[in-house]
Amino acid sequence: MSVTQKTVVVGAGPVGSLAALFAAQRGHEVEVYELRPDLRNPGTIPLNFTKSINLAISERGINAMRSAGHPSLLKTVMTGTIPMRGRMIHGKSPLGDLYEHAQDYDAKGRIKAIYAIDRSGLNEKLLNVLDSMPNVKLFFNHKLTGADFRARRAWFEARDVDVSPNGRPREIEISFDLMIGADGAHSAVRYHMMKFTRMDYQQEYIDTLWCEFRIEPQEALSHGENGAKFQISQNHLHIWPGRDFMFIAIPSEDGSFTSTLFLPSKQFAELENNPAQLPSFFDQNFPGVTDLIPRESLISSFQSNPHLPLISLKCRPYHYSSSGVIVGDAAHAMVPFYGQGMNAGMEDVRILFSIFDKHNEMLENSNSLVEGHKSSPMSMSSRAEALAEYSDIRAPDAYAINELALQNYVEMRSSVLSMRYRLRKFLEEFMSVNFPNFGWQTKYSRVSFSNQGYSDIVRQSDHQGRILMRVFAACITGPVATAFLIFGYRYRKPLLSTAAGILGLN
Ligand code: FAD
Repeated sequence: MSVTQKTVVVGAGPVGSLAALFAAQRGHEVEVYELRPDLRNPGTIPLNFTKSINLAISERGINAMRSAGHPSLLKTVMTGTIPMRGRMIHGKSPLGDLYEHAQDYDAKGRIKAIYAIDRSGLNEKLLNVLDSMPNVKLFFNHKLTGADFRARRAWFEARDVDVSPNGRPREIEISFDLMIGADGAHSAVRYHMMKFTRMDYQQEYIDTLWCEFRIEPQEALSHGENGAKFQISQNHLHIWPGRDFMFIAIPSEDGSFTSTLFLPSKQFAELENNPAQLPSFFDQNFPGVTDLIPRESLISSFQSNPHLPLISLKCRPYHYSSSGVIVGDAAHAMVPFYGQGMNAGMEDVRILFSIFDKHNEMLENSNSLVEGHKSSPMSMSSRAEALAEYSDIRAPDAYAINELALQNYVEMRSSVLSMRYRLRKFLEEFMSVNFPNFGWQTKYSRVSFSNQGYSDIVRQSDHQGRILMRVFAACITGPVATAFLIFGYRYRKPLLSTAAGILGLN
């Protein structure tokens, strides 16, 4: 075994890049292999996205970067992000007036926000940090084609300029101590790992496709007095709910909004056959959007941007022995409706390395002779134990957020409009403001603003929901029962004789 642990990361998306940084900070010899060209080169577009895509980053992603041990990473990454302190629901009243209804995330009026972040910008900043580290090598245009987790060897197709004499991409073979698969939903690492471990695997495509649009910044001349460059509030995640579909918009630093249409495949097909219908479809279902996006731009974006599917996948375990582990979308791609996919992936990395650190510490406590411990490789058996612990701890949480993300689609496109949803939100906020000592918080708040395990949140929130319904039922039934008793006492004779009559006892 080499003196330094060789960690190979497959996939240089946000999760793989962060994993490489965590490994490099621990002195590993790190190699990162990425299928696509370096996205820092002009004109390179990340897989499945237009260049501009904005995501919501929240506490879990932020905390993972905070824990990366790099002095300026978090500050660099958060520069240029835009806080979104709640949802802005758009609609039309029965009288035909357009309205906006803000639903802030924090009822207590504190600054609690998720942040709009440019995905490519985040990725670029992480790659720049990796580039500056002497123990990290980045290989772009390298596609993983095979891996043997017993022999610890892997094969890549090198698709850069250097092709083999027969004109095909050249194949390279490498060795590794640990391979971290962060190669997204269609992970090749997962596929090869499945041949070595008894992995349960389940995937589902929901019947919804998505397509990106763009709300342009205000015209320079019409900037407000404060220089406002956003056409709608910059500090909200905008939602046009449509019951079976929805349109959302997330702000960007330049004053534009990345907007996304989520629509069942059948309706997508109808509009594909007749794109001229698109503006009237929007007018009917997403009131006000055609004031923000010119009709021609709506049609051209719909025609030029891809119409992509949404996959939700669960699997377990995430590792094989001491040599392989999958993180991020490779392990638990989810539908994007809780804004947690990347956040959960980054959290995977923080948790994985905290478990490695714990096992390393145990090893060092039992071997006080080891010096320069940061670069000494873990023994294979401790790494195997750490990976098994990771799979055990992480799978229930990943399953939970997968389910929550599916449920939140219904909430975003439909429940936000319902009385029942608003009543529960009102009661939960009332409890969290007036009875803070009970630790009452909404599910959304726990998911987005804490680092509590997702499965724990589901349990706690179900429990809260039951209490709330009992309290609510008591509030309703209490006065009714009291009125019945008072009324019944005053009029008990007539009531009794009426009841006897009904029962045929008179
Ligand atoms: P990816 O970003 O998919 O990166 C995987 C990398 O691996 C890619 O660079 C790919 O080229 C590379 N690769 C693939 N195969 C190979 C191979 N064989 N060899 C080498 N390299 C390979 N998440 C949030 O947290 N907040 C949001 O607001 C949010 N919004 C979203 C909106 C939409 C419409 C969608 C679709 C997703 C959204 N997500 C959001 C989810 C988020 O985009 C993903 O969870 C995140 O990108 C996962 O990161 P990753 O690094 O695990 O995988």
